[in-house]
Amino acid sequence: MKVVKFGGTSVANAEQISKIIQIVTSDAARRIVVVSAPGKRNKADIKVTDLLIALANTVIAGKDFEPELKTVVERYAEIQRDLKLPDAVVKTIEADLRGRIAGRSSNHLQFMDAMKAAGEDCSARVIAEAFTKAGFPAQYVNPGEAGMLLSDDFGNAQVLDESYPKLATLKQAKDILIFPGFFGVTKGGEVATFPRGGSDITGAILAAAVTADVYENFTDVDSVCSMDPRVIENPPAIDCMTYREMRELSYAGFGVFHDEAIIPAVRASIPICIKNTNNPAAPGTMVVPKRAPGERTVVGISSAPGFCAIYIDKYMMNREIGFGRRLLQILEDEKISFEHTPTGIDNISVILASANLPQAKQERITGRINAELKPDAILVEHGLTLIMVVGEGMHYTPGMAAKATQAMAANGVNLEMINQGASEISMMFAVKDTDREKALRALGKVFFGI
Ligand code: ASP
Repeated sequence: MKVVKFGGTSVANAEQISKIIQIVTSDAARRIVVVSAPGKRNKADIKVTDLLIALANTVIAGKDFEPELKTVVERYAEIQRDLKLPDAVVKTIEADLRGRIAGRSSNHLQFMDAMKAAGEDCSARVIAEAFTKAGFPAQYVNPGEAGMLLSDDFGNAQVLDESYPKLATLKQAKDILIFPGFFGVTKGGEVATFPRGGSDITGAILAAAVTADVYENFTDVDSVCSMDPRVIENPPAIDCMTYREMRELSYAGFGVFHDEAIIPAVRASIPICIKNTNNPAAPGTMVVPKRAPGERTVVGISSAPGFCAIYIDKYMMNREIGFGRRLLQILEDEKISFEHTPTGIDNISVILASANLPQAKQERITGRINAELKPDAILVEHGLTLIMVVGEGMHYTPGMAAKATQAMAANGVNLEMINQGASEISMMFAVKDTDREKALRALGKVFFGI
């Protein structure tokens, strides 16, 4: 049995949905189909999820929302007309959206999630109709009724373990199941969504719940590239990588697969295959528990901008018991999660997302650090990019760090920080945003010969 997930560009219009029907029905093992909300039809287009967020904000602001509601309905109406589905499909969608608005919660986050979820929910209803019309009986599945139970962190929810046994019963269904991605319900019965891009997570949860033979994740590329093709031309394709490699690469900017979607697949050891809706014959990229040693030491290099570092210096810091704990306690008190904390003898840095450190918080935190930890110096630097060089082979190949740092030094890239995780399958470098491209070119050349 295969669980298949189709991303936003794969459900963007009628032509793409027809491809989905073809792909799913060409393999009897493809029984559970997870769908995103319609994505971009072209570069300038807007994703339905973003349209819904704008609509929800207009409703919250108490302004006239009719034009924005119309825009969303029209996206589905175009699909309905092109697939020659009954008009009633669009009427139901419009009524559903109006119902969500009329019955809105006073909690804005909760209302926002109810609106965001409508994108996937309506998509699944339309696609189930399209399968049935094409002669393949298919059923829309309501995630709440099916048992997709989530924590009540609206916009950032996580699956609750008790979801799995109930979701496992989907295995018995006779028809093809069309399951909307991205959302579930809380124990209180409220709709809650995963983080953005979270339909991948839904697919992984379902694949784990029904112990699928493989989780096929259809997107719009033939395979995952070893570097971001928007920055580096023609990077080599990755045919196979491990879960750990995928997790590390997705963490820092590999947008093809959501990093949180790895965990359910890992727990149930379900292989993942990333494939292309527009070229389903291409083998795609397999993501598996282990790969043979000797193949490709470095599998991929990713990068993500938008980080900052808090550098703290204090002579004899190494002798001061509890320094690190007290520093991290200050961050915890401010409800800030951090990414890395490289340390030296007399210094420590904390790397975090700049978005988590707005000016007011930064001032409060540096004020407390000065008052409570009495450092010799403290400096906050924004505008950092994290670069991850990832590969299982790095663990047993000497000289990898030297290779990377020499290549960057030779290209005039100043390294702000180096960190090798305990897993030893990745090296992380922080560089200034302005050095990002230079650093990536240097690394691409030395590791992939491009
Ligand atoms: N539609 C949602 C988003 O744009 C979820 C997804 O596509 O995976 O974030």
